[in-house]
Amino acid sequence: MLYVSSRGGRRDANFADVLFDGMAPDGGLYLPQSWPKLDPALVSSFRGMEYSRIAAHVMAPYTENVLDFEELLDLTQQAYAGFDHQAVVPVTQASPDCFLMELFHGPTLAFKDLAMQFIGRLFEHMLAKQQRKATIIGATSGDTGAAAVEAFRGRANTNVVILYPKNRVSDVQRRQMTTAGERNVHVLAVEGNFDDCQHMVKQMFAQRSFADEVGLSGVNSINWARVMAQSVYYFSSAASLGGLQNPLRFVVPTGNFGDIFAGYVAHRMGLPMAGLVVATNANDILCRAFRDGEYRPAHVHETLSPAMDIQVSSNFERLIFDFVGRDGGKVAGLMQAIEQGGFTMPREFMDHPSRPLFEAHAADDMAITAAIGRFYAETGMVIDPHTATGLHAHHHSPKPDGVVDVCLACAHPAKFPEAVEAACGVSPSLPHHLARRMEEPEREHLVPADLGQAMALIRSLVA
Ligand SMILES: *Cc1c(COP(=O)(O)O)cnc(C)c1O
Repeated sequence: MLYVSSRGGRRDANFADVLFDGMAPDGGLYLPQSWPKLDPALVSSFRGMEYSRIAAHVMAPYTENVLDFEELLDLTQQAYAGFDHQAVVPVTQASPDCFLMELFHGPTLAFKDLAMQFIGRLFEHMLAKQQRKATIIGATSGDTGAAAVEAFRGRANTNVVILYPKNRVSDVQRRQMTTAGERNVHVLAVEGNFDDCQHMVKQMFAQRSFADEVGLSGVNSINWARVMAQSVYYFSSAASLGGLQNPLRFVVPTGNFGDIFAGYVAHRMGLPMAGLVVATNANDILCRAFRDGEYRPAHVHETLSPAMDIQVSSNFERLIFDFVGRDGGKVAGLMQAIEQGGFTMPREFMDHPSRPLFEAHAADDMAITAAIGRFYAETGMVIDPHTATGLHAHHHSPKPDGVVDVCLACAHPAKFPEAVEAACGVSPSLPHHLARRMEEPEREHLVPADLGQAMALIRSLVA
């Protein structure tokens, strides 16, 4: 399998480029040259199969040039062995027509672990083969940084450097990063906001000599390998719920459009679906794009679901590319227009035969709070504020009789205890392993929002 850039500048990248570079040289995102189709008999055999084996089957077409099936299976088995549920991603029935897909059984209690635990091992495996070392760097507003630290801690061929805005992540999120004792983990508390952190990371990649010197690599949400790993749980849940015969509708809380694009990938690979519901919070640019055909970023609102407080959804570029006939020039033009305030969705997008698969719903903070309260009252189950945007969409978007919704439960409610308790009166407690972590000593480096100082520090840390 070779990969193309969504902006047309690269047409034959291999999987190693895609994994280590993240973004294409023209600023576009990588997609496979064509969508591989899984044999329906193989997909049927997923029923009752262990998650790590399903994962190897789903990802094999993408990694065939670099890994054989047994190597891939070995990596997925290691990646998912540490989850605290034997099913890895269990599905739980909440009501007659609603199931929750529980994506929070990994070490940092959010769905980012599903991709990151695999990618950490994949990086290590490929670096060892090539006898290379790398420095993984990322900016985080909370969940991605913790998931990256857990995925890379203690690995021999990588250093992991995370920049986070000091005092702007939750106590649990910070401690998940700063209590990893391994020498290859470096957490930088930046005196600035998330945009400062992200900007500094981008500039470090732009400084070629620095990037080459430390072997810079990223695992942010545009990395194709993350999307690929996330498409697995659509197959595993459909297999266990009979979704191959009776297609399911998936309801997906969305920020950067990564998780829901992974659902679209599963559909392209041959998984039948009754729909994909884009659930946003008050940052509703994607709703406006699907409903009104206008993609216009507004101010970022701070909401009860901070991981979705995003206006420009990076991965949406991949869907646009696929819907406009994979015309990279056209996509490059649209992306440029974002700087000038946005664009009207092209006609090919709105008229695409797969466009009706998608619908979109927004939930403001009041709706999120109401959804947590209603769900608790009706089912006795406690959900987090991100998952609640999906439940709001489930309740407010009609579906044909006989169709069942699977709502993606993105994070454990104990990651957002204040919002959850205010909404339903229950204070969710952390699982044991994390509660213990919260007592351990913290280790971090305080830096000003200054590129030169941060780069000097990173040089000395990874030397
Ligand atoms: C990252 C994240 C999201 C948003 O996912 P995208 O793939 O960016 O759409 C939603 N909820 C939680 C808890 C997250 O960590």
